Amino acid sequence: MEVKSVERGSNIGSFYKLSTEERLRIVQEFSGLSDEEVQTLKTGALPGPSAQRMIENVVGVLPIPLGIAVNFLVNDKDYLIPMAIEDHAAKMARAKGGFRTSSTEPIMIGQVQLVKCPSPRDAENAILSSKQEILNKANQQDPTLVSKGGGAKDLRVRILPSLTGTMVISELLVDCRDAMGANVVNTMAEAIAPILEKLSGGSANLRIISNLADKRIARATAHFSKDDLGGGEVVDRIVQAYAFAAADPYRCATHNKGVMNGVTAFCLATGNDTRAIEAGAHAYAARTGHYSPLTRWSKDENGDLEGFIEIPAAVGIVGGITSVHPAARISLKILRVKTAKELGEVMAAVGLAQNLAALRALAAEGIQRGHMSLHARNIAAMAGAEGDMIDTVALAMVNEKKVRLDRAKELLTELVSSKSRNASHKEPRQAKKHPN
Ligand code: NAD
Repeated sequence: MEVKSVERGSNIGSFYKLSTEERLRIVQEFSGLSDEEVQTLKTGALPGPSAQRMIENVVGVLPIPLGIAVNFLVNDKDYLIPMAIEDHAAKMARAKGGFRTSSTEPIMIGQVQLVKCPSPRDAENAILSSKQEILNKANQQDPTLVSKGGGAKDLRVRILPSLTGTMVISELLVDCRDAMGANVVNTMAEAIAPILEKLSGGSANLRIISNLADKRIARATAHFSKDDLGGGEVVDRIVQAYAFAAADPYRCATHNKGVMNGVTAFCLATGNDTRAIEAGAHAYAARTGHYSPLTRWSKDENGDLEGFIEIPAAVGIVGGITSVHPAARISLKILRVKTAKELGEVMAAVGLAQNLAALRALAAEGIQRGHMSLHARNIAAMAGAEGDMIDTVALAMVNEKKVRLDRAKELLTELVSSKSRNASHKEPRQAKKHPN
């Protein structure tokens, strides 16, 4: 049965306190999911034939939990975000008007490597003189894409000195519309290679998409009130944490990993290529030769925190796994996005929110001493504590200032022996992620 989507905000109070069934019912209403789709979400069902189409040598499936983050307001539209965990940062952003986003057209780059060109300069001139013929050849490969307003739009040539001699690199700029575009672009690059060989007198070697999608960029910005963050000192500490990442690649890798915690999970849920996104993000972060943060943080004129993210957004809502995996299709339906461009912009907002959550946890740690109890809980869990025992053991260790595995085991043994045998079993507590 199809349920009609209900117009409601994504600011759903205490979503985390609801049962799985109650949460599912809200998501179903918000996104108009059918009962069948709800059932698919519950089990993560991936039919054998679908799995066979996704990879080679299939022997099974690997189910992982799918959560929903509420509270996301992006360009005044409410979103429920599959696989994201950071709705507190989204709630803080919402209080200041939510996220504002923008993006470029969905242009991907296809490269053809030409080697052994007798004259690289002549090759460049000849190729550029035949640009229209080459673009036409590329566009003949995908009439559907062209009919949607996409297709090969431009061609550029670079002469590249290299370890094995000078190469001529021809690059197709392809508007992929709502597809990620790797297959489309690869097909086009292969199709134009013989023409390029003829024009250059060289030999075509690689013909493949570039994952440095620097012409397909999504941006998001948001403000976070200093009061919500815990005071002006927290704002200053977050800005200092950002400055650390901007100055130091060791910190920056972890800073960007914090961004990608949101982005990669989002891509996984929506059936997008997480490896392509990761490669693009890190290459983009290093594009100046200095590995830099994907986000920027500053104090605004009111003393509140302002965040900005700029990230390549090679994501699609058609093609690839998005069409094959039932849970990916449902995730896209939950998001209610209409275009790949919109998906990329929401992805950027998720990355910004996730980064803030990590920075806040880390930067405010000195003030709140939150980290020690988080660490203590991890140690308690490592010692074998479950359910409520995790917090009991952790608290005892923090109070004793002895957060160690051996002490956790001792405390656990004492606790277990003193605990009544017929105590009711409780659901295990949700694992808390370490911030980045
Ligand atoms: P795809 O091959 O399924 O092609 C999408 C097709 O959908 C387009 O060619 C177009 O004809 C059609 N289409 C219909 N409506 C459209 C619309 N509104 N906008 C755009 N196209 C529309 O998918 P793809 O996006 O070309 O390829 C993505 C897949 O390629 C991913 O699974 C990715 O993992 C994989 N891949 C990645 C790499 C890489 O990143 N280096 C390399 C090879 C393959």
